[in-house]
Amino acid sequence: MMLLSVLKEIYSQSETEKGHFMKRCLILFSLLALLTGCQSQTGTQAVQRDVFAMDTYMTLTAYGTKADAALGTAVERLSELDTTLSATDPNSQVYAYNHGDKQALGDEAAALKEQALTLGARTGGALDITIYPLVQAWGFTADVQRVPPQEELDALLAEEQDTVDFGAVAKGYAGDVVTGLLREAGVTSAIINLGGNVQCVGSKPDGSDWKVAIQNPTSSASYLGSLAVSNQAVITSGGYERNFEIDGVRYHHILDPQTGCPADSGLISVTIVANSGLLADGLSTALFVMGLDDAWAHYEAHDDFEAILVTQEGEVYLTPGLRDSFTLLDESYTLIEVLP
Ligand code: AMP
Ligand code: MG
Repeated sequence: MMLLSVLKEIYSQSETEKGHFMKRCLILFSLLALLTGCQSQTGTQAVQRDVFAMDTYMTLTAYGTKADAALGTAVERLSELDTTLSATDPNSQVYAYNHGDKQALGDEAAALKEQALTLGARTGGALDITIYPLVQAWGFTADVQRVPPQEELDALLAEEQDTVDFGAVAKGYAGDVVTGLLREAGVTSAIINLGGNVQCVGSKPDGSDWKVAIQNPTSSASYLGSLAVSNQAVITSGGYERNFEIDGVRYHHILDPQTGCPADSGLISVTIVANSGLLADGLSTALFVMGLDDAWAHYEAHDDFEAILVTQEGEVYLTPGLRDSFTLLDESYTLIEVLP
């Protein structure tokens, strides 16, 4: 439109006027080009921060002029959350709570506890943040793993526990906090990777979807697939993430609250895609515990998430909402798009 009116103007002028006008237009267009050039350069430049928190490496990447300051605040918040929510740091509120000080949780940790308990109820107890004594019995908190005797597990299962372990939800919650902070600061394009849990703000600076790689549960050398997403959390739980082997048996860190033992549901990996990181993180753990049939029933009963469920037989079950966004990269798996 602007170009059209400029051309009309040129043709209605005399030769000398045309010369001056063309010169002015040229200067104006060059200035505009320069300005928009600068704008897009500063607007699309990536600012990246690496952090080690919550026992994992985190990479935060944001674009635009607001990115640098916003990421600085985000990094501070992450280390604050790390100290508050850790089950192993003797200075954390959670540690104090689990060791008898029932007033130790501040507002944020107390609110997270309530949200996680509500989500736990929704999953029929498959997500159970009071599971801390069991996690401890298996040695996952001390990094000295052991297989607890059945009597010890039975005694712990019989007790009503008033403890918290945010391991299954903390990273998703932290992702919500960080993406919220970035949005508030005016960042419209960012991707954060909290130890394989990915959450994004908007889309890529060029407007296209982010491509999120999904970890291959049976090989760290390749990816299972990739997902095209914008504005969402993509969170995976898998037994491969943390485990140990004793006498030829491998034990992983996702426990079935009913047995007190590592969940043996037939699923080896669960990825959840949702708007909320807390929901996605909690459900990735819960659906891993539930197994394929109950996980599918949970999907049918709710409309706030999509999932990729990988069985030990190498089948990849994809919920309908991900049909167009998931690409299988490891051909040794069989993609099943409609769940049984
Ligand atoms: P995630 O990697 O999100 O699946 O969370 C696993 C972590 O959550 C473990 O390392 C434990 O700290 C804790 N956890 C294990 N099993 C459960 C469970 N069934 N419910 C809640 N938290 C659990
Ligand atoms: Mg989880």
